Amino acid sequence: MNIAINCPQCDAEVDLAEEDTVFRCRYCGSTLKPTGRNQVQSFFISPQETAQKIGKALVRALKAKNPKQLHIAEHHLLYAPYWRVTGMIFQWLFGRKYFRAPGGDKSWKDLKKLRATPWVHTFPAFDASKWGLFSLGLRVQALKIWPFNKQEMGNDSLLLKQTISFKEAIDHAQSSITKQGGSGSLQVHMATSELVGERYSLLYFPFYYYTLKSNGRKTVLIVDALSHKVIKGSVDIDELKTDSLGSKIPYKPLNFIPYNCPNCGWEFSFRPHTTIHFCKSCSRAWQEREGAYVAVSYKISLHDKPAKTHCKYLAFWRLTATIKTPDREYKTLTDFYDLFPLPRVLNQEAIRNRNISFYIPAFRIKNVIIVDKFAARLTQMQPTFAESELDSTEELDLSDIWLPLNEAKEMAHVLLYSMTKETHKKTKEVVKKAELQFMDTTLLCLPFMEKDFYLRETQTDLALQTNALDLD
Ligand SMILES: [Zn+2]
Ligand SMILES: [Zn+2]
Repeated sequence: MNIAINCPQCDAEVDLAEEDTVFRCRYCGSTLKPTGRNQVQSFFISPQETAQKIGKALVRALKAKNPKQLHIAEHHLLYAPYWRVTGMIFQWLFGRKYFRAPGGDKSWKDLKKLRATPWVHTFPAFDASKWGLFSLGLRVQALKIWPFNKQEMGNDSLLLKQTISFKEAIDHAQSSITKQGGSGSLQVHMATSELVGERYSLLYFPFYYYTLKSNGRKTVLIVDALSHKVIKGSVDIDELKTDSLGSKIPYKPLNFIPYNCPNCGWEFSFRPHTTIHFCKSCSRAWQEREGAYVAVSYKISLHDKPAKTHCKYLAFWRLTATIKTPDREYKTLTDFYDLFPLPRVLNQEAIRNRNISFYIPAFRIKNVIIVDKFAARLTQMQPTFAESELDSTEELDLSDIWLPLNEAKEMAHVLLYSMTKETHKKTKEVVKKAELQFMDTTLLCLPFMEKDFYLRETQTDLALQTNALDLD
């Protein structure tokens, strides 16, 4: 979905791809950062025709069926608010699948499966009990949206009141993603679904309201202003008129800030998907929050000879956490290896006092299954890295950062399932009930050597297929 905006520099009408974290005007070349994209924002969809034109066509069609005196007594452009939620669902399924072997025998086979699918969901943010159009469906995906602006929506247009709060919308979205189960050939014993990278917007969708009069009798019709179909719905128009929202904006529309380091003024590299920006000049990292840049601290685990060896530094969130269930807390590595055992003898003395760390890839991913496997292995190793804060990162090849911290926390929960073996009953029981309590969070860049389609982490020697990553 594209957001239609006027370039803040030259005023040309341009598009901003919904997922882009930086904007470059194709007319004047200015580069700016759209703000508030991690918060709720309000948009509207513009009708393509006028109420009069659609009304005339409607009256013509009705008269053809029933040739009576009929005219439009009143018409309005009306916007109804819908919640729109987008994100990526990560779903782990543990269970059994019924399958037919090559010889023709049928049997059950253990199954552990990770699915990652993009998710888009729209539902009314107003009282839709008397309304026939519950979801806007997929067609809105192809439409352009405009930042909420009452003047452009029409000063005399009416707005249906938003009655489903943001919190209620979150609950609704959560309950729709967790609805899952088996089918005839699939038995699910344990599952988790996590919505990651979710973005909530309030989308004002246009309708036309007509009061038709025929021999003194009144009828009300509501028409979808894009498809021009009559829909089932009823609105108290007098209440709407008095209960006007005026020009008050429900959620902040899009805004722009300079795409420069707030510390030294250096322009960041143009990376449309990165959420944390490294400054090449002063080596600080920044994230936009509520219209301003906030510093993000990060550490680098240097390879011995950084300048000569051409390492690629990939960023991970290292989250130190306690795994909590109603019966027990798993706090140290001794506890951790009790749940996720390694096939070798461990030095009990060395792990007794160490905390549990989760390693979540912060770079953009192409193949979720491969990267998930890597993250699970890295986390299961619980390595220790030599790390430092550098004054200059100019020489280093740092990967872009795509996954913000709050989403990394959701991914840590997914990782619990990734590390669990299908055959390990006790671990499954714990993971099912487990919650994570985070203590310390660090953005850590680890050095990888590239060789023969693989990136190899230099200290653990774990390898990752280069084409599983989506690096610029
Ligand atoms: Zn411009
Ligand atoms: Zn700087």
